[in-house]
Amino acid sequence: MSSHPTIAIVGSGPIGSAYARVLIEAVPDAHVVMFEAGPQLTAIPGESVRNIPDPDEKERAREMSQGPQAGALRESLGIPAGVVVEGMFTARQGTHLIDFGGQGSGHAETFAAAAASTNVGGMGAHWTCATPSPAFSEKIPFISDDEWDDLLDAAKDLLHVQDAAFADSAVGEGIRSLLEEEFGAELPEGYGPSTLPVAGDPQPDGTMRWAGADVVLGPLVDPTSPLSQRFELHDLSLVRRVEVENGRAVGVSVEDLRSRETRFVPADLVVVAADAFRSPQLLWASGIRPSALGRYLTEHPVVISTVAVDAEKIGRFATEDDLDAEIERRSVNPADPVAAVNRIPFSEPDHPFSLQVMYAESPPFPLDPAHPAAGNRWGYVNMGYGMRKRPRVDDGVTFDDDELDYRGFPNMTIEYALTEAENAEIAAATERLRRAGNALGEFIAEPRLLPNGSSLHYMGTTRIGVADDGTSVADPWSRVWGVDGLLVGGNGTIPTANAMNPTLMSVAIAVRGARKAAEPLR
Ligand code: FAD
Repeated sequence: MSSHPTIAIVGSGPIGSAYARVLIEAVPDAHVVMFEAGPQLTAIPGESVRNIPDPDEKERAREMSQGPQAGALRESLGIPAGVVVEGMFTARQGTHLIDFGGQGSGHAETFAAAAASTNVGGMGAHWTCATPSPAFSEKIPFISDDEWDDLLDAAKDLLHVQDAAFADSAVGEGIRSLLEEEFGAELPEGYGPSTLPVAGDPQPDGTMRWAGADVVLGPLVDPTSPLSQRFELHDLSLVRRVEVENGRAVGVSVEDLRSRETRFVPADLVVVAADAFRSPQLLWASGIRPSALGRYLTEHPVVISTVAVDAEKIGRFATEDDLDAEIERRSVNPADPVAAVNRIPFSEPDHPFSLQVMYAESPPFPLDPAHPAAGNRWGYVNMGYGMRKRPRVDDGVTFDDDELDYRGFPNMTIEYALTEAENAEIAAATERLRRAGNALGEFIAEPRLLPNGSSLHYMGTTRIGVADDGTSVADPWSRVWGVDGLLVGGNGTIPTANAMNPTLMSVAIAVRGARKAAEPLR
């Protein structure tokens, strides 16, 4: 090892950024080089695009995140139209599907909505910022409660988590009261309706500056901080291989997507945090193939609906004056329509689901102006139950060395099925969603189950475990079995069945991995 250790990080999302921050702070002379396949979207690297006030600029930032399938970025790279894919389209704003239907596309018939973001900040530039903590069996059994609490505190600091965002919204409070009336008696103490923790910084005018990888990187991207001298971020830089010699990762081969030149970058430690599909794909392409690689894929089956808030129902808890104040507050930031965020968290034994209730000024789809609920003065709630998926070796992604994807990597095929256990919980949650909607107002979109992959929370494909017994890819500190100096990070490391939004948990796991990796580097 050199006297100034070099750490190469693949991927600039919240997890790669957490590794960069913790390692630079913990190892005084370490130098971190981060590679990101996508472009930088904002002046501060990794900022949430939700903070961009201009709608056209926001739209452009989202399009630039859709990989070389997207128009302007593709043209800027000199890739002629039609060469890369046909049938180019996007999934959720800022993301691109893995199975986009054209040449070089992955195969995800059983997991059709599987998507990724390719930009500085990763999906963390587009996320909703919901950051609940894992509870009950969602937690990892081989990490003690005390350590978990400490790791979660560190992760919350990195992500700027607020436990009581929009808590002063009277309409938000009214929504919680109505849900409490409907469900309170059935839920354990401390697990009833509450504000949903979110990652962001409340502003003096009542709006939120949403958190992205920028806040996780913090001083690393602040040119006035000495820590920024030890951090390099290279956008449009696609890591093609993790290079391994004698059982040890020795660096990465990186293609500069502007010049199309590939170079070797030596490193004392390599961290792969390139999302739950592309991390295992990169390991596979590098010849690192533990048998659990890509397997045990889980996500959250999701049922969603939209409800117009009923004046009479909410009127028992909030006044017309409260509503006027709410409308006034929302008008400060029309580009960001979210007004209050509530939830009912996962609890056991009777509520193994996570309900997320977003209160907004407008529905998430165009509503026919003739609809009786169009222009509802009290606004709308978009609600969804997230459910758990039991990890099974049968679910996962495989890679084909003989068929390459649009980036020239072994192509992906996803195999995935819901079992009776999931179907029973989906039915139970759908019933509860109906009750929640009726408690709050009138459905303008009935509860419906979204296609597999819609949660954007893909887990398990590089799971951590206590033994190298074929059921995990990495050890409890995220060190890949059998290869020294190589860590994996991201939702793929989560081994449990759970219903909470996974980013906070993955950042906590990354903090654990980074602290351990720092020890020999110091
Ligand atoms: P990512 O953020 O996906 O970043 C991985 C990065 O690696 C990407 O930028 C990619 O381009 C890069 N990369 C891949 N391969 C290579 C390579 N070979 N070389 C170089 N770079 C590479 N989660 C929550 O917890 N709460 C939410 O409310 C929530 N809402 C969401 C809403 C939306 C619309 C989206 C899109 C996601 C949401 N998520 C949410 C998911 C959340 O964003 C992810 O959990 C989080 O971003 C994962 O972080 P990551 O760093 O592991 O991966």
